[in-house]
Amino acid sequence: MDSAMIGKIQKAKEYAEQPERMQFVSFKVDFEGENSTHQVIFNEGNWECGCSFFKSRGFCSHTMALQRVLGKMLTAHNKEEMPEQKVVEASAE
Ligand SMILES: [Zn+2]
Repeated sequence: MDSAMIGKIQKAKEYAEQPERMQFVSFKVDFEGENSTHQVIFNEGNWECGCSFFKSRGFCSHTMALQRVLGKMLTAHNKEEMPEQKVVEASAE
């Protein structure tokens, strides 16, 4: 392997340790729930999910799970604060 390639692999390893460098703009996920598969869409901070809970609340276990998994990779475009945080604050009142 040439030295340039070795250098790129090393850089990739360093980048992989810094997910905050990567900011998702949009993506589509087939989310395998316990009962059925739901399609979740993220587009510049706006979430969509095909499940019935999302239709009434605007968030759901599927979007919250993706926020947990992707974490810092969503912060630049994620306009919504974590719904869980709202729930925690509401229950503390
Ligand atoms: Zn959902």
